[in-house]
Amino acid sequence: MRGLMMDYELTLLPIFDRAGRYFPDVELVSRWPDKSIQRSTYGEFHKRVQKLANALVRLGLKPGDRVATLGWNHSRHLEAYFAIPLAGGVLHTLNPRLSGQDLAYIMNHAEDRLLLVDDVLLPVYERFHKDVNLRAVVVWTHGHAAPDFAIDYEQMIEPEMNTFAFPNIEEGQAAGLCYTSGTTGKPKGVVYSHRALVLHSMVSALPDALGLSCGDAMLPVVPMFHVNAWGLPFTATMVGTKQVFPGPHLDAKSLLELFQKEKVTLTAGVPTVWLGILDELDRNPGVWDTSSIKAMIVGGAAAPRSMIEGFDKRHGLRVIHAWGMTETTPLGTVARLKPHLEKATEEERLRMRAAQGLPVPFVETRVVGENGAVAPDGKSMGELQVRGPWVAKSYFQNPAEADKFTMDGWFRTGDIVTVDGEGYVRITDRSKDLIKSGGEWISSVDLENALMGHPSVKEAAVVAVAHPRWGERPVAAVVLKDGSKATPHELTEYLTPLFARYWLPDSYVYMDAIPRNATGKFLKSALRDQLKDHRWEESPVPGR
Ligand code: AMP
Repeated sequence: MRGLMMDYELTLLPIFDRAGRYFPDVELVSRWPDKSIQRSTYGEFHKRVQKLANALVRLGLKPGDRVATLGWNHSRHLEAYFAIPLAGGVLHTLNPRLSGQDLAYIMNHAEDRLLLVDDVLLPVYERFHKDVNLRAVVVWTHGHAAPDFAIDYEQMIEPEMNTFAFPNIEEGQAAGLCYTSGTTGKPKGVVYSHRALVLHSMVSALPDALGLSCGDAMLPVVPMFHVNAWGLPFTATMVGTKQVFPGPHLDAKSLLELFQKEKVTLTAGVPTVWLGILDELDRNPGVWDTSSIKAMIVGGAAAPRSMIEGFDKRHGLRVIHAWGMTETTPLGTVARLKPHLEKATEEERLRMRAAQGLPVPFVETRVVGENGAVAPDGKSMGELQVRGPWVAKSYFQNPAEADKFTMDGWFRTGDIVTVDGEGYVRITDRSKDLIKSGGEWISSVDLENALMGHPSVKEAAVVAVAHPRWGERPVAAVVLKDGSKATPHELTEYLTPLFARYWLPDSYVYMDAIPRNATGKFLKSALRDQLKDHRWEESPVPGR
């Protein structure tokens, strides 16, 4: 017997419509590059999104066309988040921290047709514009005129109607596209359907997940180009939450100022951001009013336990650790404690909160060791595999990466984990040797290959070394050719034109030989061990 409920497509349209209809006065606050604050509402947003959708169609947008955005977090970016998919296009967020070469590759692979770009990010566009083929470039200007080759966003939408004839969208249709550079080799595209974004929003809003309601004020520190700011702009719009966008100002003081002024209740970002904030709060006790904050979501890299403890004990602030991936939209697990675990010792509670957490509803997990499924004993390690309605089933036009998806329908995360008897997942290692610095991936292999192109270098291996501020930073172990010389300065100069600045190794360690395994490959685990007590200088990371 079949159920007798309506066939109702799960698309972003009812989310968008509800915010405009029932929360027209709820604010959307943006901080622009010049630090000025602009206030808008869901009521205005509802009209502006429709104006933008009309303008995109006028620019030639066809169903399925990819529209790229290169922007910081602000309310105009939120307009693009809805107007592009609701007009039948695919929102493709670009990470401005990537090199021009990578951005050109990604845009050509995605076949982007239009680009919306912040005026302050035009220098990034300059780095790749010759290598891409766009129908039009639209600039989010602020206080400056758009350059001649581009269209000014406000001038473009101003004459448009504020009602749009939304096309019929089927829930399986693509709404968003995001590339992950999470492994070596070329970035891989993940295509989000309307249905995935809707279901992900519904579960993210649950109190045991990220926990959002119409009474909250949410500030995503996580950029809108990192897995759709973890889906928070969609989730917040769905429930009518006030949204506060920090623009490019992500330093601790600027953020604390906004938390205080806008009475932010929920915020989210990578550990590096929170370490900076913890440091500022420790240095200047009593200066900042953080009493409105109910939860700070930390993810993208492991949240150090000392940080969770520091916020808790010294500032009464609740850090919630979560795990996810570009391929999982991204929410996978959240480390909130079950009620009976709240009664455990303080030590045990902290230990559990520093784990990656319990899978959220509809994210199924299994842990596969060398000999099949591993026991949930908190000790046996295996690769975490996941499946669910917002987990990718393949990459965009990338058959070479098909082996990340198992024959029986699971996604291989590449994270090595244990699971305890309560079901809490804990990452112990990564199967890959990537470096995650301030929430951004750095490929060790790409750096090694480049270094080994230097005339004086015989061998080079790059590994992640724990760093108090950035989580991890690259350190290069270098073996020089007999009789050759190359100072760290010379090596840095050699790499500089080839990589984004934050990719450049912070230190070089000269060795006679790099440890290798039985098959002659670099033994990175041994190298990491050798370098684990590496002492960092106080210098900030270049380019960040
Ligand atoms: P990305 O696709 O760039 O978001 O990167 C996803 C990867 O980041 C995961 O496979 C993990 O290796 C890592 N990651 C994300 N969240 C966490 C976390 N809470 N703890 C440790 N690693 C994490």
